[in-house]
This record gives sequence, structure tokens and C-alpha cells, in this order.
Amino acid sequence: MFKSVLFFAAALFCLASAQATEFIPKAEQVVDNVYAIVGPLGQRSKENDGSNANFGFIVTVQGVILIDSGASKVGAEKIAAAIAQVSRQPVRWVVNTGSQDHRWLGNDYFANKGAQIYALKRTAATQAEFANQHMQILSGFLGARLDGTKPLPATTLLDGDEATVELGGETLTLRYTDAHFPGDGWVWLPKHNVMFTGDLVYVDRILGVLPWSSVKNGQKAFHALEALNPKHIVPGHGGVCDLAKAKRDSGDYEDFLADVIGKAAQDMEPLDATLNKYADLPQFKHLYNYSDLHRANMNRAFVEFEAN
Ligand SMILES: [Zn+2]
Repeated sequence: MFKSVLFFAAALFCLASAQATEFIPKAEQVVDNVYAIVGPLGQRSKENDGSNANFGFIVTVQGVILIDSGASKVGAEKIAAAIAQVSRQPVRWVVNTGSQDHRWLGNDYFANKGAQIYALKRTAATQAEFANQHMQILSGFLGARLDGTKPLPATTLLDGDEATVELGGETLTLRYTDAHFPGDGWVWLPKHNVMFTGDLVYVDRILGVLPWSSVKNGQKAFHALEALNPKHIVPGHGGVCDLAKAKRDSGDYEDFLADVIGKAAQDMEPLDATLNKYADLPQFKHLYNYSDLHRANMNRAFVEFEAN
């Protein structure tokens, strides 16, 4: 009897600790009928199903508009469950802000349930281009939890550098940012003063400059975002915030990369000395991932500006 109680207690403990580490997406209201799902700041993992990013949704009387669909089938199911906590409406539309795995690999799940998948044209083209690479890398992180995930690039494609769609009585304006990945965009909700920045803005963690990222585009796009003066910002990564915080954590950093590191490159300063000189930046040091990414970010910015 005593033994079985012990066993039961141990089993409960295992269950509790497994649940403690598993990321369960939760909707938080941004304003009105607009919600955000804020993912964890760390790396992709089995526990978070690759959902280490932010998602969002708008509830309308005609159905739910989902912004970005998660990195896998299981991740998409979890996002759907988070939406179901708030609304009984089905997800009728998915809008992708980008081509990085967590922005769109859940598309197929929602399409099978009848959703229409929207994106700017070049966003979808980049999704198709990176699909294999992203699936391969993700399978390293997620293992069997990636099973059943089928890459489905967006199928309803929007022309132009900026496009406005009306869905369920809501107005969404998509516009290219081309910063983190080529073809990335933002989704602006003018009626609610909410900006879903996609991977243009990271707060709480430092943004990542990848070999295919563009600091020049990122700086330009951030200044264009500032001009719209959004009241509520749902960044690509990190907590929902205001413009001041987005500027502190991302806009100012893009300015630094372009105006200081980019300028050093154009002035033909030596690379190594430049990276050493700016290795320690108190204003950004508190950002998660700083020690891992800052030097590589500067390096890539330098190379981009050196090239032209
Ligand atoms: Zn991302």
C-alpha cells in the first residue's frame, strides 16, 4: 500500500515537471478584439514546438484572423487551442508576416480546416525557397514532434510593396520590411492602432542579423514604423509593448548597426578593431542572447555596408 502511494506520488511528480517545461500558448488581449500569443525567448525546442515567437489573432463575427501559424503541426494545434479559449469562431484566415519557420509551417494545419492563407507575394516565394532548409533544421530541434508538418507557402498572394485587405470587417495593411528575411512584412491594423511587426522588432531579446538579413532595410523599415506611431506593438519576439520600448530594444540597435558599424565599414576601418571597440554596449547588454549574437550581428552589418 505504502509502496503504491510512493509510486503514485513519483508518477505525479514526473507529470508535473513535464508539464512545467512544456510551453502552452496563451492568448492575451492587446486591445478590443485583438490578441497576442507571446512565445518564449529561448531557442526552438521539443517543449515549445518551435513556437519561440509571437503570434496574434483578431476575432470577428465572421471568423478569426490569425497572424502567423507556428512552426509545426503540433505547434499550430496548440495555437488553435489558445484561440479556442477566447472564441468559438473558426480560424478563417491566416496572414503570414514572414518566411521563417515559426511564421508559417502551421499553414497546412489551418488550411486543412478551411482557412485561406494570405501573404505578400515575395513572402510566399521566400517560404518556398527556405522550406527544405527550415524543415531540416527544425527536425534537429523537434524530432518526432515535427511529424505531420507539411510546408504550405501562402496561397492567396498580395501584389505590390504594400497591400490592404478587408477580412471579416477588419482592415489589415501588409507592407514589406525585408529585414530579418527577404520578403518579411508587417501587418498594421489602423482601426485598432496595433502593429504586428513580424521579425522586424524584437524586444527583451536582441534581434538577430542572419546572413540573408539586411540592416539597411531594417533601419529604413523601423523609421517607417515610427512614422505610423502605433500605440500597441506586437513584436516578432518578446512581450507586447509600446513604440518607445520597440525603439529602445530594436530601432536604436538597427541605428547603431547602420550608423556606427556600417559607417566604419564605409570608412574602411579594420573589421576586428571595430568589433572590439563596440563589443560592450551598456544600453543593449541586458537583452537576452546579447553575448551570443551581438558580435556576429556587427560582423554581418559590417559586411553588408562594406559590399556597397
Ligand atoms: Zn523569428
